[in-house]
Amino acid sequence: MQAYRFALDVTPGQERALLAHAGAARLAYNWSLARVKAVLDQRAAERSYGLAEADLTPAAGWTLPALRRAWNAAKNDVAPWWSECSKEAYNTGLDALARALKNWADSRSGRRAGRPVGFPRFKSRRRSAPTIRFTTGSIRIESDRKHVVLPRLGRLKTHESTRKLARRLEAGTARILSATVRRDGGRWHVSFCVALDRAEREPARPHTTIGVDVGVKHLAVLSSGEVVPNPRHLDTAGRRMRRRARRMSRRVGPDRRTGRYPSKRWEAARRQVARAHNRVANLRRDGLHKLTTRLAREYGTIVVEDLNVAGMLRNRRLARHIADAGFAELRRQLAYKAGWNGGRLVVVDRWYPSSKTCSGCGAVKTKLTLSERTYTCTTCGLTLDRDLNAARNLAALAHEATDARSGRESQNGRGADRKTRPRGPVAAKRQPGTATAGQTGTVPPQDGTADHVPFRHHERLRCG
Ligand SMILES: [Zn+2]
Repeated sequence: MQAYRFALDVTPGQERALLAHAGAARLAYNWSLARVKAVLDQRAAERSYGLAEADLTPAAGWTLPALRRAWNAAKNDVAPWWSECSKEAYNTGLDALARALKNWADSRSGRRAGRPVGFPRFKSRRRSAPTIRFTTGSIRIESDRKHVVLPRLGRLKTHESTRKLARRLEAGTARILSATVRRDGGRWHVSFCVALDRAEREPARPHTTIGVDVGVKHLAVLSSGEVVPNPRHLDTAGRRMRRRARRMSRRVGPDRRTGRYPSKRWEAARRQVARAHNRVANLRRDGLHKLTTRLAREYGTIVVEDLNVAGMLRNRRLARHIADAGFAELRRQLAYKAGWNGGRLVVVDRWYPSSKTCSGCGAVKTKLTLSERTYTCTTCGLTLDRDLNAARNLAALAHEATDARSGRESQNGRGADRKTRPRGPVAAKRQPGTATAGQTGTVPPQDGTADHVPFRHHERLRCG
C-alpha cells in the first residue's frame, strides 16, 4: 500500500462543492458525537440515582455500522438536503468518529499504548481541515494525466502530472483503494491510497552497513564520514515568517468575548502566514525524502538510534531544531523505504551510549557534554568528530546483530527495557546501558532528558 498525493487546481464552483461535502462530513460527525455523548451522560446520571444496570437507557453503539444506522434513520430530519452530497461525505465523518471513539475507549481500558487519548471533540468549520474520502464509485485518473475523476465532483484538474501513478495503473501493477481530498495550507490535494505489486529489488550495495546518527548540528552524519547538512529551512524562512506573523498581529483579529469578526485584512494576513509555514513544511519534507530514498536505495543495512523525540521536544532549547529536522519522520521513512528496496533497518534501543563509546577500542566515557563536538578517547587516544564516532558505533552494532542474532536489535520503538550492552571495558561508574531494566531512570538519551512518562502511563493503565 502506498499513497500518491497530487495538488489540485480547483475552480471556484468545484471548491464550493468540496466545501459542501466537507461540511456534510462535519455535520454527520458532530451530530453523531452529540448523540453518543447524550446517551453516555444519561447513563451516568441514571447510575448516580442508583438505577440497576439493566434499567439504564440502552447504550448507543459506536462502531461504524451502528453510527451509520443511526444517521440514516435521522438524516431526513437533521439534514433534509442530504441527497445533495455524496453519501461518502457522511461516511467520512462517521468513520472518523468511530475511530476516535475506539481510540478513546481502548486508551482508557489500557488496550492502547502511548499517550492517553481524550474523548473526541466537536469539529469546527474554522479549525478543522476540510476533508472528504471516497472509497466507492468512479475514482479514476484521466488518460491525459492532468485530471482525476471523483464521484459527484467530476473532473478535477491536477496541478502536477499524475504520470507516476498513471503508468502503474496502465501496467496493471496498481489498484486504487480510496481517494481523499483535503485542503491544507490553502491548497487542495487529492491523495490516492493504492495497493501496489512491488517488484523485488536489491539495494546497490546489499552487503554494506551504514550507521546514521541523527543530530542537532547536522541532519545526519553517516558512518562513511559523509555529513548531511541540516535543512534549516525554518531559519532561512524565519524572517519572512516572523514578519508576516507580526503583520497579522497588528491587524484586527476575531474576539470571542466581544463577538468581533476578523477584518478582511487580518484574514489576508493569516493566509500569508499559513503559506509561509506551508512552504517550510514542503521544503523539509522534500529534503527528508531525498535523503531517505538515497540511503534505502544504496545500503543493505541501515542502523539508526531510537531517539525519544517526545522527551526531547520537551527540552525547550533544543526543541525548535529537533522539530525542524523531523527525526521521527526520518526514521519512519527509512523503515518503509528499506522494506521496498530489499534492505533492512536496525533500530538500536535508546539507552545504548552511542555518543559515549569509543568506536576504536569500545571504551565508554562517563561524561560527554553536548558542547564537546570532538570525541577524544582517554584509553586509546582516538580523536574524531563526535557524530561520526556515534555513527560508526551504530554501524558496528549492526554487524554484531547480524553475527549473533541476539537481542541487540529491537525493531520496535518501545524497546526501552531491552538493553544493548556496551562492547568494551566499562569505567567504574555506572554507565548508560549497564543498568537492568526498570532502573534506567537516570540515563539520558544523547544527553537529553530521560523520559519515562509513556511507560509509567502504560503501567498505571494496566493496573487500574
Ligand atoms: Zn578508544
